[in-house]
Amino acid sequence: MSLRSRLTTAFLVVVLGPVLVGAVFVAAIMSHLADAREAALADSAVTMVDSTLGTICERIQASAAAVALSHRSGGEENTIEMARLVVGRDVVDGVVFSALVEAEAASAQSVGAEAPAGTWIDCGGVTPIGDRPVVALASQAAVANPDGSLSTFTVFRVVDRDFLASVADAADAELILQDGRGEPLSVGASDAGAWATTDTLLPLRVGTASTDFTPMYWTLAAMVAASGVCALALAAWLARSTTRPLAELSGAAERVADGDLDARVPVHGGDEVAQLALSFNRMTAQTQTYVQALTASRDQMRGQLGWLGQTLTATLDLDRILEVILDTAMVTTNAEAGLVMLADVGDADQLLQRAGEGDLGITEPAAVRIGEGIIGSIAAAGTPAHGRIVDGRFGGRQRSPTEPDARTIVAVPFSGRGVPEPEHPGMRRAASEDEAAESDGEGGVLGVLVLYNRVAALGFEDADVETLKTFAGQAAVAVENVLLHRQVQRLSLTDPLTGLWNYRFMQTSLRREAERARRYQRPSALLAIDLDRFKAVNDTYGHPVGDQVLVELARRITGQIREVDLAFRHGGEEFTVLLPETDAAGGAACAERLGRAVADRPFKVNDVEGGLELRITVSVGIAVIGQHADTAAGALTAADEALYAAKAAGRDTWRIATA
Ligand code: GH3
Ligand code: MG
Ligand code: MG
Repeated sequence: MSLRSRLTTAFLVVVLGPVLVGAVFVAAIMSHLADAREAALADSAVTMVDSTLGTICERIQASAAAVALSHRSGGEENTIEMARLVVGRDVVDGVVFSALVEAEAASAQSVGAEAPAGTWIDCGGVTPIGDRPVVALASQAAVANPDGSLSTFTVFRVVDRDFLASVADAADAELILQDGRGEPLSVGASDAGAWATTDTLLPLRVGTASTDFTPMYWTLAAMVAASGVCALALAAWLARSTTRPLAELSGAAERVADGDLDARVPVHGGDEVAQLALSFNRMTAQTQTYVQALTASRDQMRGQLGWLGQTLTATLDLDRILEVILDTAMVTTNAEAGLVMLADVGDADQLLQRAGEGDLGITEPAAVRIGEGIIGSIAAAGTPAHGRIVDGRFGGRQRSPTEPDARTIVAVPFSGRGVPEPEHPGMRRAASEDEAAESDGEGGVLGVLVLYNRVAALGFEDADVETLKTFAGQAAVAVENVLLHRQVQRLSLTDPLTGLWNYRFMQTSLRREAERARRYQRPSALLAIDLDRFKAVNDTYGHPVGDQVLVELARRITGQIREVDLAFRHGGEEFTVLLPETDAAGGAACAERLGRAVADRPFKVNDVEGGLELRITVSVGIAVIGQHADTAAGALTAADEALYAAKAAGRDTWRIATA
């Protein structure tokens, strides 16, 4: 059963129920009143009949008295005269004389109508009703004659249909004479509503004209029917006007459930349902706004992720990768500024800024020691943190001067699995080109992703930390990938025994240096180093001992040169050193220093028999690029020639190429 039919039914029951009950009640009262009225009418009709008959009787009695009086005072003639008079007045129908003078007896036996045969009712007393029909109302008066006889005069009024009709007319009732006759005499209307009986003078059933209540009942029924129709129409309207907005609401809700957020409900009036419709519309609009915002943010995120993915796969440029990661992290978390700090290669306890976005309020790239300041403490703890910075303090730590001054911060440290570094004496030198970005140990802190000042003055949340962990993880992978790549590259360019750069890298470096020297007219010295009588070492102690000497020599060479200088092992026991921004004198000083570093201390090596100390010397040839040669090959040849000169000069010495 629908809500509409339930409402209609309820309304009809509530409205029509009392109407029907009222109608039945009214009908019952009407019927009762009708009965009571008819009974009352019948009673009053009896009274009327009795009083009419009483009046007639009084007249009959008066007539009898008058006739008797005239007899007493005037004799027979007067008597007859009086009798004729009373009959002539139509009061009575006839007078019967019982004892009059003989002579007139025959003619004066009666006056008026002939005395009817049957029961005469005496107006003055009670006459028992016999089995004969009542035919007259009568009254008798007696007069004593002088002779002592008694003359009686009986005055009567014939009781017949006409008489009854006149009485019925006067009383406005239907009369039935209940006497001894077989078929009762009845007059008046034939549809009496109520009956009563009287036998005060005549035995009569008195009926009153019935009142027809049918029209009233019809009126009542019509009223009930009309109110029923009205109630039905009202109920239908009410149910419709109540359920229609609800049906519209439920239709709209269904559309929303199916994903159509454009669905709106028409608002009628200002009742509760209208309020509900308004709220529904507002709610749907809000949801639509949220969904649009979410879609936009998802699209933005997709774009960022796509860009991030492209960048990560397409480049090994660590700065570019970190920039993209930082940018994406900032967009995703609505941050105003951000930093990526990486552990310094030369000083594992130091974090250096590698990427920065937004207004950080610091002019120079940030450098923070691990364990110091806000970033340093978070990096030392190794766990992400977020919150407000109050008066330059966060988490009990004071901001270091090199850190940005901000309102809120979220920082996520990231660590790597560690890129295995081969232990070579010359490795630091070989790696000197990469200042930062290199972690020193396995799984140590690789860096920290730090964001500042979320827009709209909001603080960062736990959810932001989770998001940033992803980006920090990507940063870690990117850094490690780059490190790995660089290591692979380095391994292909370095000598596995000594860790110094190999012949290939020497060629590249020499060419680059020749180009630089040519373009900027800046000198670069090239040192060709050769072990003196090394064959003898091999021959005496074996190749493995010779190799140990080569490794120790590499260590001593790298110990004597600057950060910017490059050392190569380009042949078996042949080494070169490239000294940028160095002229012949500088080269000679370096050669001298190198020679001393080799010759002054014996080389400690081990062979099968135990530890050995070997006296080793080197000869060095010096050529200056831009002075002795303009090309890489020319410089090498010049240095070799100088080396040869040094050998020729007795070894353990150096010579400068001749111009
Ligand atoms: P000189 O003073 O004239 O240089 O004499 P030398 O014996 O050093 O002569 P040379 O420079 O021609 O030496 C070449 C020797 O170096 C041959 C070989 O025994 C040794 N050698 C070359 N490569 C290696 C290497 O990889 N390991 C070892 N242990 N020895 C090597
Ligand atoms: Mg040699
Ligand atoms: Mg040699």
